[in-house]
Amino acid sequence: MQRRKFLKAAGVAGVAGAAAATSFAAPAISQGRKKMVIVSTWPRDFPGLGTGAQRVSQRINDMTGGRIEVEYFAAKERVGAFDSFDEVASGNAQAYHAADYYWKGKHLGWAYFTAVPFGLTYTELNAWIRFGGGQKLWDELAAGFGLKCLMCGNTGVQMGGWFNKEINSAADLKGLKMRIPGLGGDVMAKLGASPVSIPGGQIYENLVSGAIDATEWVGPWNDSFMKFYEAAKYYYYPGFHEPGSMLSFGMNKKWWDGLSKSDQLIIEAATSAENDIMMAEYNWKSGDSLASLINDQGVKLRKFSDDVYDSFGEAADEVFAGVRAHSDLAKRIDTSFRGARKNLGGWSKISDQAYVAQRNRVLGV
Ligand code: CA
Repeated sequence: MQRRKFLKAAGVAGVAGAAAATSFAAPAISQGRKKMVIVSTWPRDFPGLGTGAQRVSQRINDMTGGRIEVEYFAAKERVGAFDSFDEVASGNAQAYHAADYYWKGKHLGWAYFTAVPFGLTYTELNAWIRFGGGQKLWDELAAGFGLKCLMCGNTGVQMGGWFNKEINSAADLKGLKMRIPGLGGDVMAKLGASPVSIPGGQIYENLVSGAIDATEWVGPWNDSFMKFYEAAKYYYYPGFHEPGSMLSFGMNKKWWDGLSKSDQLIIEAATSAENDIMMAEYNWKSGDSLASLINDQGVKLRKFSDDVYDSFGEAADEVFAGVRAHSDLAKRIDTSFRGARKNLGGWSKISDQAYVAQRNRVLGV
């Protein structure tokens, strides 16, 4: 019945196949059954982030043949978005799907495991996490809070955000009240803006009411769904603050440590699959969404100038100096990240970046 409850809660179709899976799983392995409550920071059915969290929840349930019975709760259905961390760390729930930079108030190191200003792209981040020592540092950070985290989705390079006026110089950012979480918010603060971090589900009302003047969220696919264009017409790119935002599947470490090797491998496979699938979906849907925003909603696409970008860079240097002074662990994470960025950045420049530039030039894309 739990399985049916999950399907109903997740709003997922395909009940006939699910019923077959339940009848297959239940008698065969009734002994090792486990419940897994997953909470998230996303509204139910929110495209990409929410549907991705629901998809990986379903996948874990299905890959274990229902042996791990998953119950998924979107933001506010069990706890508020930002209470997900404590819910899992305390053991009340077994896992969350979230952006770990929401926890930077608990430790600045968390920011690196979503995205940081002038950080890594999706492919670069995967390389650092899997081969450059990133996962080991993430494990050390998470263990300090009783958690174990795995990569579980990515939005790709995010847009710079929605503004109700043009940003021609860094001076135009002064006094701006902007929704921008993570270290990106700290960079904006250095430039005289007032950053706020509020969950996705509350951004629109704040922007429309004028409580905030600007917001970043994700990119064209998600942002068009949020209808930010009703309150702000200038849409800036590229976002300096989130060049490949990685989503995290954070589990209660004690619960994770108690799983069989087989169940751990299944969860690793399910989250790794979602890491890949979510990125593909964002890439596929962003181009059309951007065209529709411009053509149907009158959105004005603008590129941050080099001068504005230089200002972001100078402010980011100050922010990173603060991070390195925060703690030994934050400093070690930053050092590892910097080494990875240098190594991967050099390769990206003569591989992805050089090829795409030439291909698009020749084809006139
Ligand atoms: Ca964002």
